[in-house]
Amino acid sequence: MKLIFEKSVPGRHCDLLPRCDVETVELPESLRRDAAPALPELSEVDLSRHYTELNRQVHGVNCGFYPLGSCTMKYNPRIDEDMAALPGFTGVHPLAPARTTVGCRRVLDTARSYLCEITGMDDMTFQPAAGAHGEFTGVLLIKQYHDARGDRARTKIIVPDSAHGTNPATAAMCGYQVVNIPSAPDGCVDLAALQAALGPDTAGLMLTNPNTVGIFDENILEITRLVHEAGGLCYYDGANLNAVMGVVRPGDMGFDCIHLNLHKTFATPHGGGGPGAGAVGCKDFLRDFLPRSALMDGPGRLQVRSFAGNFLVVVKALAYLMTLGRQGVPEAAQNAVLNANYLMRAIQGTFEPAFDRTCMHEFVLDLSAYKKDTGVSALDVAKSLIDHGMHPPTMYFPLIVHEALMLEPTETESKETLDWAAEVFRQLYALGYQDPAYMQAAPHNTPIGRPDEVQAARHPVVRWQKS
Ligand SMILES: *Cc1c(COP(=O)(O)O)cnc(C)c1O
Repeated sequence: MKLIFEKSVPGRHCDLLPRCDVETVELPESLRRDAAPALPELSEVDLSRHYTELNRQVHGVNCGFYPLGSCTMKYNPRIDEDMAALPGFTGVHPLAPARTTVGCRRVLDTARSYLCEITGMDDMTFQPAAGAHGEFTGVLLIKQYHDARGDRARTKIIVPDSAHGTNPATAAMCGYQVVNIPSAPDGCVDLAALQAALGPDTAGLMLTNPNTVGIFDENILEITRLVHEAGGLCYYDGANLNAVMGVVRPGDMGFDCIHLNLHKTFATPHGGGGPGAGAVGCKDFLRDFLPRSALMDGPGRLQVRSFAGNFLVVVKALAYLMTLGRQGVPEAAQNAVLNANYLMRAIQGTFEPAFDRTCMHEFVLDLSAYKKDTGVSALDVAKSLIDHGMHPPTMYFPLIVHEALMLEPTETESKETLDWAAEVFRQLYALGYQDPAYMQAAPHNTPIGRPDEVQAARHPVVRWQKS
């Protein structure tokens, strides 16, 4: 399709600006442009069609199944958007006098208390804007803790080889040396490898549980005990909380600080770069190191973002928690786990799970044998799913499984959708033996099929240039 700039016709427009109700001010000459900006000019109907067409070319949770592992692409109830759109929330200014923002503070305090209860933490900040930003903040808590004790010999953070790429990146960004430990054959932490890596130079461990292959590490209490015994702290990557919220708490597993992806677990739509929130919670002894807004809480604190963070994302999380209630939160987690197990077993016998055991909220398929037999790769299967109206699962992650496809159906999918998805996987499995070339050329009915991902990453063209 054409870009909006290419559809532009000079002089055509559809703007109906409200009457100006403030005093007009002339900008000083030095601040003015030399020429008018090259904005696209379209009639209202053409503008509407442009965005409708764009909308038709993307796949969202509103279009169909979206089992993108590790990302928790669940349906986010509209009521949460309605709450975040209330004028009292959207119109508030962060510098408004405290007596006029009592309601907003109550939202933050209530959301904090609910999320602390769910995670077993004692305090929480909403400043970080995403999960990775939350990790960065959390590892800075660990660093400040050791520094405050004068313990500067702790230079290493331990990260299992199944970790999300942001974990080692975070540790490195915070100035730590990353110690990668291999997983045991069951996908969990190898206790012997952990013990060998621990020492007086250990600052901490970063872990998610359930882990990235969808398995709950049964040794979790032993793992956190060993790290503490060595003088390190335990960081919980909360991106997988959807599997356990309301059922088991990271605080009780022995973790000292955590981040939550409010945009994964707690009702903010994501995928495409909208605002998120990587809330960071901690135990009481780390509370003093939490970031605060210099303007709102007084100076001298770590600050990782302006004011209280992406406030409206917190409004959505609170609305979500209040609609689910004390029974609904664990029920959502249990249904997420049930759906994942149902889908895994329905596909099994064709594509095989990498770990043949009960999974948590997601599971990983290992397509290496299938690729050897047919020449059809995990990428080819993912591309073929697009032709069936399904968003591909996460591919080639975690790195410990070759030809990996990682599926997370979430709790918001019906049995009918899961049955349909399993049938699509079974059909594609058979098709790989009959007509591998067809799958290797998929997708067949999208405007763009196989973009050059290396070029796109190395030389991104993200801006239209007027020729
Ligand atoms: C998504 C995810 C992150 C990073 O969160 P962002 O909000 O995308 O920065 C970290 N760890 C795991 C396991 C994740 O799935």
